[in-house]
Amino acid sequence: MLGSSIESYWSQYRSVPIVYRIGVAFVLGSVLGLVLGEPATVLEPLGDLFINMLSMLVIPIIVFTLLMGAKRLSPSNLGKIGGQVVGLYAITSAFAVLIGLAVSNLISPGEGLEGWQEAEPDAAEAPSLQEVLLGIVPENPVGAMAQGDVLPTIFFVIAFGLALALVQESVESEDVTNGVETFFDIAEAGAEAMFKIVWGVMEYGVIGVFALMATVFGQAGTDAIIPFALLILTLLVASVAHIVLVHFVGIVALVVGESPRGLLVGGKDALITALSIRSSSGTLPVTMANADDNLHIDESIYSFSLPLGATINMDGTALYQGVVAIFAANLVGVSLTVGEQLTVVAVAVLASIGAAGVPGTGLIMLTLVLTQLGLPLAIVGFVAGVDPILDRLRTMTNVSGDLAVTTLVAKWNDAVDFDSGTWVASNRD
Ligand code: ASP
Repeated sequence: MLGSSIESYWSQYRSVPIVYRIGVAFVLGSVLGLVLGEPATVLEPLGDLFINMLSMLVIPIIVFTLLMGAKRLSPSNLGKIGGQVVGLYAITSAFAVLIGLAVSNLISPGEGLEGWQEAEPDAAEAPSLQEVLLGIVPENPVGAMAQGDVLPTIFFVIAFGLALALVQESVESEDVTNGVETFFDIAEAGAEAMFKIVWGVMEYGVIGVFALMATVFGQAGTDAIIPFALLILTLLVASVAHIVLVHFVGIVALVVGESPRGLLVGGKDALITALSIRSSSGTLPVTMANADDNLHIDESIYSFSLPLGATINMDGTALYQGVVAIFAANLVGVSLTVGEQLTVVAVAVLASIGAAGVPGTGLIMLTLVLTQLGLPLAIVGFVAGVDPILDRLRTMTNVSGDLAVTTLVAKWNDAVDFDSGTWVASNRD
């Protein structure tokens, strides 16, 4: 009796789409944190557990899906698609900084803010361009995978996948070609298994997100948020403007010619996960699952573009650099010239490429922009107080950009099925 009623509650609970369950957990956790304050932070390990579970999947999912993609991609295609992906990533990030600067110039966050003290920035050295580029080629691929370094892992797996495809094309021996086939089959089975784990982890995400939000608001409280309301508002307006104007309307509606609602509905799990866990790399398994299951994009495209995007394409992070540059200038009472604002565009795009898709790196990358403009680095420490909130917005914008560009490249290469699932529902109802 008791067993069957528990079972029916459980199946009712499971019948609510995961994204809504996580959304409710997000709100309830925030409220609990605000009401309880510091004691709510006892829930922190439950949130960390969610992040660990997602992080655990990142490297295996990259390896399996990239190898699976290599099976479908001829070596010449990879060059063409790689060029399209990287070019679009750079262009959309530049747009993001421009939108960030425009909205900040309008709202002027930081103006007239009194009583801010110099604080020591809690920032590590930002890497130079040379370090960023050299870091792409791993000295030791196993070491790179063991440390969870996404970019060198992608580099090695692509080289390996291409080599396997070349071997299959050029070697006569049946044993060898069978071996390559087996490799690809294992990759395919492995990727499917990983996606199964992703959806299991998302079930736990309801608890994980509740705990994460309770901890954030338990630590910060309302006092920490109020002085920065304008900064948060500016980033919110600019991020939403970028997502709507560039990703949804510009890319999906105008260039791809599909309903933007398809992208929103199909990618909602990834967007809400990004908002919750503040890491595009951590969100990657969900982004990939959405691209595959909901958006019906072929893995030959997303297996390459999404892991790469989670690492080098950060529209939200770039936009944030523009917003904070204006905030910082207003704070110290200087105004940035048009030339200086254009410098911000170049440095912010570079900084966003170098930033890893993990929580808080955008904050560290701020040092590049502030140094370039001669603004006090202490602002990094100052902004750090509200960064957990800002980071959510930029991570969601980052993931939205990855999905939009992936959709466009898939369309250009005839690798997306707009006539099934989400896209149809969004287009035809
Ligand atoms: N948290 C962001 C991401 O993972 C990076 C950042 O800190 O801006 O995409």
